[in-house]
Amino acid sequence: MYRAPRGTTDILPEEQTYWRYVEAKAVELCQLYGYRRLDTPVFEEAALFTRSIGEGTDIVTKEMYILKDRSGKALALRPEGTAPVCRAYIEHGMANLPQPVKLYYLAAIFRYERPQAGRYRQHYQFGCEAIGDADPALDAEVIQMPYQLLVSLGLSEVTVQLNSIGCKACRPDYIKALKHHYAPRLTDICPDCKIRLEKNPLRLLDCKQQECQHIADEAPRTTDYLCQGCQEHFEAVTRYLKSLSLPFNLNHRLVRGLDYYTRTVFEIQPLVGGAQSALGGGGRYDDLIEQLGASPAPAVGFAIGIDRVVLNLKKYKLPVPPIASPGVFIACLGEEAKTEAVKLAASLRAQRIGVIMASGNRSLKAQLRQADSLGSRYTIIIGEEEMKSGRLTLRNMLSGEQQSLTATELRAALEKSA
Ligand code: AMP
Repeated sequence: MYRAPRGTTDILPEEQTYWRYVEAKAVELCQLYGYRRLDTPVFEEAALFTRSIGEGTDIVTKEMYILKDRSGKALALRPEGTAPVCRAYIEHGMANLPQPVKLYYLAAIFRYERPQAGRYRQHYQFGCEAIGDADPALDAEVIQMPYQLLVSLGLSEVTVQLNSIGCKACRPDYIKALKHHYAPRLTDICPDCKIRLEKNPLRLLDCKQQECQHIADEAPRTTDYLCQGCQEHFEAVTRYLKSLSLPFNLNHRLVRGLDYYTRTVFEIQPLVGGAQSALGGGGRYDDLIEQLGASPAPAVGFAIGIDRVVLNLKKYKLPVPPIASPGVFIACLGEEAKTEAVKLAASLRAQRIGVIMASGNRSLKAQLRQADSLGSRYTIIIGEEEMKSGRLTLRNMLSGEQQSLTATELRAALEKSA
């Protein structure tokens, strides 16, 4: 027996109500803010991610699905959504469009992680990117968007964690101070942090190991080392968020797991569960486009994990609208009646009336049972009598009431009740 690979799930029809609802809300949000959809391939050249996410990051060192195609080229299943959007922005000359270019995606993301609740090897993200403008109002916008989405879904029990990690001008001084703080504490920190100190010192701050907590808590703060430009930018971001009455917590240990971030970083976390179960996050990445070989274009974006949003909708038993199923069922008895039924189903569908047709040669009773279990409001019955009289029987499945109607009357009745 084959099973879905570890860390992946099937999204069954009964689950789709949640998924389609979240996606519809995401699309609606993008229309409100003027973001246009971009779909990129599921795989890219592996080097695109190594270069942008950073060589020393967990994603690149431990989590990417790398495959060699038949020509020997190293490809990677998309482990995040931002780098492919930037690649497409450059490849399609979007720098020539009025800036910023605002794009969104709904995409499957692949990471070889240890599967657990809310952590999968294939998950889905909704993300937005505003590329080509350094305006701090855009930072506020991409924080507001996922927050507003969650609130509109009924998930307002969240906190927005915010930090600024500076730019290439001010960060080196900060890293020096951070290393200085850790140097005398080498024997107290976890083995991973010893490596981070060498390879990716910013990540020291978000270590989850108990022994590293107080050392990270007491570490110098990135916000105390910002250059004037970064400081003014951060002040503007917080000012805009306050003007939106959007609640946020300054969190000096928030750095995020990808190297391309500059200045603003943020994460949206549930009140219960914290960073381990973050619903979304993002930040500014002013150097990424240039790092990928194009003229510099500052940018900012966010991504939200749809799987975790769905888990929370279920956890809090939040209502989601059902997906409408066809309200009409056609039951028929005998080959001649079936031919009639096939024709009638097609013509009703052409009128945009959803129809499910009985299949097989079951008894009328069994067909009505099937109609009931499908939640049909009406069943059209075509039996021997109907074939003789040229009329059709319309049964109201709730009341059990039946009417004998001509085809024209039947259409009118169904249209009226639609
Ligand atoms: P990240 O780019 O890691 O910040 O991911 C953005 C969002 O995607 C996170 O806040 C999570 O909601 C979601 N996410 C990330 N990794 C996973 C995963 N392995 N399984 C499910 N959701 C994930």
